[in-house]
Amino acid sequence: SAPDPAIEEIKARMSLVKHKILVLSGKGGVGKSTVASQVAMALSGGGNVTGLLDIDVCGPSAPRMLGVEDMDVHQSGSGWQPVWVDENLCVMSIGFMLPSRDDAVVWRGVRKIGLIKQFLKDVNWEKLDYLVIDAPPGTSDEHITIAQCLNQTSNVGAVIVTTPQEVALLDVRKEINFCRKAGVKILGVIENMAGFVCPHCGNSSEIFVPSEADSVQGPSAVLRGAEAMAKKHGIPFLGRIPLDPKLGIASERGEALKNSLALQSLQSAVQNLRINC
Ligand code: ADP
Repeated sequence: SAPDPAIEEIKARMSLVKHKILVLSGKGGVGKSTVASQVAMALSGGGNVTGLLDIDVCGPSAPRMLGVEDMDVHQSGSGWQPVWVDENLCVMSIGFMLPSRDDAVVWRGVRKIGLIKQFLKDVNWEKLDYLVIDAPPGTSDEHITIAQCLNQTSNVGAVIVTTPQEVALLDVRKEINFCRKAGVKILGVIENMAGFVCPHCGNSSEIFVPSEADSVQGPSAVLRGAEAMAKKHGIPFLGRIPLDPKLGIASERGEALKNSLALQSLQSAVQNLRINC
C-alpha cells in the first residue's frame, strides 16, 4: 500500500519526545484517567517535561483532571499549542475543542483515527521527556491507530491499569495480548483501588476482593490479583494504589495528590515505571 504521509510528520514530531507511555485499561471506571493524570503530574513534579495526551474522544477527562478545563487551544505556525498547566506539564485533549462540557462526540472510526494522527503530528509538543497517552478502555480502532503510529518511533511502552478483581483482570489479559500482537512493550501493570485504609480506625480492608485465578506463592506471601497475573504473564508489576478519598477529590479538583497513602504508592509505581522505560 502507498506510504502514509502523516507517518513521516508523526516521526518528526515524536523524535523530540524521549519516552511515549500509553496508559491502557481493559475496562472503564478502573481509574485509568486518574492514574494517567497523576502519573503525568508526578513525572513533571520530578522535573521532567511531560505532556498528557487524552485520546479518549468519547469521554475526555484530562482537562478536568489537570484543572485546566476552561482553557482553549490555539493554532500557531508550528501547530496547535497544547495547554501548559505549569512550566513542566502540558496537555492536549479533544475536551478543549468542545463547545461545552456536556457536548458528546459521536464520531465514526475514521474521524477518530484522523484526530489521533493530528494529535501526534500537528500538536507543538516541543521537547518532552515523557508523553503520557490516556487511551480509551478496551482495544478498538483508536488503540490500533496509536500503536501503529507510535511503532514508527522509538521508546514506546504501555502501562495497564486494573483493579484487583477477576472481572477487570479478564480484560487485562486481552490488553496484554493486544500489546503483544501490536508489538508494544509492556512497561508494567498498576493495580488501582487495591484496598482501603479507614481514615478513622486506620485498619485496611479489601473492598474489591483480589482475584485468586493466577495465585502463586511469592517470596513472603501468596500473590493474588494483578501482581499474580503479572507474574504469570511475565510482565512487571509496578505497584498498587489504594482507594483513597483524597485521590478522588484531587482528581475532581484537578490537583496533584498531596501527602496521603495513595501518593506514596503512586510515587513508588512511577519510580518503577521510570526504571522500566
Ligand atoms: P477510568 O479512566 O478508568 O474510566 P477514572 O480515572 O475516570 O476511571 O476514575 C473513575 C472514578 O474513580 C473517578 O471519580 C476517580 O476520581 C475515582 N478514583 C479512581 N481511582 C481512585 C482511588 N484510588 N481512590 C479513590 N477514587 C479513585
